[in-house]
Formats: sequence, structure tokens, C-alpha cells
Amino acid sequence: MEIITDFLVLGSGIAGLSFAIKAAEIGTVAVVTKKEKSESNTNLAQGGIATVQDKNDRFEYHIRDTLVCGAGLCKEEVVKFVVMEGPERIKELVAWGVEFTRAEGEKNAYDLGQEGGHSMRRVLHAKDLTGKEIERALSEKANANKNITFYEDHIGIDLVLKSSVTGRTGEKDLCLGAYVLDIRHNKILTFRAKYTVLATGGAGKVYLITTNPDIATGDGIAMAYRAGALIANMEFIQFHPTCLYHPEAKSFLISEAVRGEGGVLQLKDGSFFMHKYHPLKSLAPRDIVAQAIDNELKRTGDEFVLLDISHRDRDFIISRFPNIYQKCLTFGIDMTKDPIPVVPAAHYLCGGVVVNHYGEATIPGLFACGEAACTGLHGANRLASNSLLEAIVFAHRAFIKAREGFNKTDEERLHVSSWDTKGATESDESIVVSQNWDEIRRFMWNYVGIVRSDKRLERAQRRIDLICREIDDYYRHFLLTKDLIELRNIAAVAKLIVQCARIRRESRGLHFNLDYPEKDDKQLKDTVVSKMTS
Ligand SMILES: Cc1cc2nc3c(=O)[nH]c(=O)nc-3n(C[C@H](O)[C@H](O)[C@H](O)COP(=O)(O)OP(=O)(O)OC[C@H]3O[C@@H](n4cnc5c(N)ncnc54)[C@H](O)[C@@H]3O)c2cc1C
Repeated sequence: MEIITDFLVLGSGIAGLSFAIKAAEIGTVAVVTKKEKSESNTNLAQGGIATVQDKNDRFEYHIRDTLVCGAGLCKEEVVKFVVMEGPERIKELVAWGVEFTRAEGEKNAYDLGQEGGHSMRRVLHAKDLTGKEIERALSEKANANKNITFYEDHIGIDLVLKSSVTGRTGEKDLCLGAYVLDIRHNKILTFRAKYTVLATGGAGKVYLITTNPDIATGDGIAMAYRAGALIANMEFIQFHPTCLYHPEAKSFLISEAVRGEGGVLQLKDGSFFMHKYHPLKSLAPRDIVAQAIDNELKRTGDEFVLLDISHRDRDFIISRFPNIYQKCLTFGIDMTKDPIPVVPAAHYLCGGVVVNHYGEATIPGLFACGEAACTGLHGANRLASNSLLEAIVFAHRAFIKAREGFNKTDEERLHVSSWDTKGATESDESIVVSQNWDEIRRFMWNYVGIVRSDKRLERAQRRIDLICREIDDYYRHFLLTKDLIELRNIAAVAKLIVQCARIRRESRGLHFNLDYPEKDDKQLKDTVVSKMTS
């Protein structure tokens, strides 16, 4: 079956929905999302969205903080326009119904949080559920728009390219839409669109331990890569130092504020270790704490370290951390008496699909925004709460560009053949999928995690090459399922991360290699890869 639309948007987080709401002003929009539409990283964002609001704050300060954090790799012109366009985009979110927490006693002012790396208070939030509030408001707005059709439980498989339809290579290619699996009915649909937007989010699920929800399998990045688009900076993965460690607790963050309020890190035997790594001990910056914990876990073979705040007053803990207290209690951990088992977790991907200032990927007709894109804002490290901001600024810019070309798009009506399932049979060996899935996440965690080395990266390369061959073979012979599509994508993304990490022979920002522990400014450039160079 073929579905024809003006805009095909893959993903219903902040990037996809904010683009869709705008695009619906000028055309029809199909929002394809692989689970229910609120299942996204956006929905889990706690801290907030950074933008200059305070009268003592300045654009220059936000720009400087972002550049410092990015460790020399941010694109300054991108940082400037993202920061400067922030307040306008925030007004738009508010007009669409997002309710940010207001400052007490000050009319019309927002309560502004301060986070690591920000020199001023500038983080707008909706209590500690900012993402949920944004997702709620955008979903309501998009639902009410007749030009927007949602396709939930539909997963994008691959992009449709003009060259694969005409068989003519060598001329400038064009993205014509995407093949999509309707998961509930087990049918593959062809979506034809003037413009396709990848807003598929990050790839935390490539790692064994992550703060990200299950949808974060890097699908958009893998699809763009297979289609021949440029991908960059995949080595820069941000790890959050303290995620709750419990077999049943998926993706639950223990906020940095617990350490801020006196929580101390220790090993299972109760001994302290942070003094070996930084004078600020447990209050050291996020990346240092993540590296220290990782090092101790590798050294001792333990599965977690402990975060202890039980020396503080019980009532204080419960009133300051009601959400964390309740969550821990559901897993039998009373944080007023017991230390909390924690591990670092893959949190945010700075790299992704290379885009220009208007979110255009290197294939005409294809845009990427949000966590799936590499815009040049974050460089080698993301400043806290800059990612939601990046998503709305780039979704807007992508819309401006698409609107410019909208009436000029005069693509010949090519016949796109349906997905060919000839010869494919139902798999009787689903174990291959779960085995490979588990293996990738485990070796990525152990060899391509917070602390890397040439030897570990080589080991990872050998394994991922083998697994990719196995998956390709499996993919060609069996009917597609959501699990297989995602496995193929996490394998592709894992391979890209290993490839980029091996190219960068220095330590910078979020990439730390024991064999090159220092920055080397001769290598001060993005790590750009494509199918052609792999
Ligand atoms: C726990 C947590 C806390 C965070 N806190 C903050 C914060 O305070 N401030 C901040 O700025 N950032 C924060 N971040 C990061 C931020 O939330 C994300 O970077 C941002 O929400 C990404 O938005 P997005 O629209 O790009 O992707 P997402 O919100 O992840 O949405 C991706 C969408 O794509 C869909 N999708 C994926 N693959 C496919 C496919 N193949 N076919 C169809 N649909 C697909 C998914 O179902 C989903 O709807 C946090 C992240 C996490 C995990």
C-alpha cells in the first residue's frame, strides 16, 4: 500500500511534533512513530530547556558556556543562532500550551534552574517533569490538527531514494519517502513525501545500561547512513554518572542533586574512592564522576557502586527527593537508611546525521532534527538542557527551508515498487535476534564505553563486523519484525560509534582513550563517515 503525503515525519518527540505542527500550516503531514506517540526521550526529560530569560543573563554568556562545554568542536555560528533564537521558540511553546513553572511572587517570570556548566540560572522547567509537559502540549496541539495523521506502532525501515527507483546512479539523489512496517498488521507500507524528516531521537539502547527508553535504537541515523548520507561525531556519547542499578529498574536517573545535597559515592565494601580522581570528590563534574565509577567497576569487577545519603535527616531526604525516594522504595531500597546502588548510563548522543543550518541532510529532500542530527551545537560535549532547545530551533529552521521549496518541488511522479518480501520466510530462530542484541550492548558497554583504548576498540570492531554480517544474512532470508529492524539499526549505529572512536586519536570532550589521554588540536575537526568511506 502507498500513502502519499507532503511531509513524512518519522518520530513524535519534541523535534518531530514541533516540525509537524508547523508543516501542517502548508500541507499534509504523516507522523510515523514506532510506539504510542508519547514514548520518547522527550517524555523523560527532567531538568528543562536552557534559554536566556533572566535580566542579568546575556546571549554571550550562554554562547560562551556552550562553547566551553563543547571542547573546541562546536560550530560557533550554530551556537549563536540557536541561543539567540531560543526565546522566540520558547514563546511559541508557551503559545501552544506548554506550562513552565513560574517564579514565586514575580509576575510573568519563570522559575529558572541552574545546571552544571551554566554560568547563570537559565533552565526553564515544569517541576521535574519538563519533557512530559512538552510532549503533552505538543501532542494535544498536533492531534487537533486535521492536516496531521498519526501512524502509531509503525516503524520506519529504510528511506526510498530516487536512484533506487530509477536505477540511475551518478546523478544527484533525492529522498522520496520511506518504507514503514505497520507493526500491528505486519504489513510494509510505502510512504511517498515531498520532504522526509528524521526525528527519531538518540541511540542509548546501543549500550547495556542507559537512561533512554526502548525506542532509542538510532533508527534514523542507521537509515540515513544506509541511504548514503554523511554521519558525524558518533564517538561523543554522554554518560550520566548515576542511574539506579536494579534488575527491574529500567532507565531511572538518580539526580545529581543527591550528590549536591551530600550524597557520597562508595564501593560495595563501604570504602571511598572519589578522592583518587578529583579534589571535589563526589561533587566532581559529571564526566569525571562517570569515568571514576567506570574505572572502579572495571578494576573491582563489581556491577555497581553505592551512593549514600542516609546520614542526612530522614524528613529532609523525603521532602527534597520525593520522586527518587518513592521509586527506590518500590525496589526495596529505603534511601533514608540504605545506600542506593548506581551505575553510569549512556544518556545522550552528540553525533548523528550531518545537517546544515536548516536541518538539511546531505541527501536532498531529507531533513534531520533533534537528537538524531549532528548540527554543530554540542561539539564534543553537550551542555545540560541544550538538547531540547536544539530540537525546537532546528525543527523551525527545517520548516522555513521546506516552505521555501514547497511549491517549487516538481518531482516527476515515479513509480515506487512495494517492498519485496519474495523468498523471505518467518524466522524459526528468534534467538539469533536476542543473542546479537545482548552481545552488542554488552561489548559496547565494556569496550566502547566511558573509557576506551585502542585494544578495546579493535576488539569491538572485530565483533561488530562479524555480527553485522550475520544480521545482514538473517535480514535477507527472514520476514521483517520490529525486533529485527531495531537489531539491524543498533548494529549499524554501534559500528559507526566504533568507527568514529577509532578515527579520533586523542581524548576530547566525551571521548576518552587511554592510549591518547590528551587533547591534540591538530585533530580539531569533526569525525565524518559515510557508506562510501566505510
Ligand atoms: C532521562 C532523560 C532526561 C533528559 N533530560 C533532559 C533535559 O532536562 N533537558 C534537555 O535538553 N534534554 C534532556 N534529555 C535529552 C532530550 O530529552 C532528548 O535529546 C530529546 O528529547 C530528543 O528529542 P527528539 O525529538 O529528537 O527524540 P525523541 O524525543 O527521543 O523522539 C524520538 C521519536 O522517534 C520515534 N522513532 C524512533 N525510531 C523510529 C522509527 N524507526 N520509525 C518511527 N518512529 C521512530 C520514537 O518512537 C519517538 O517518538 C534527557 C534525556 C533522557 C533520556
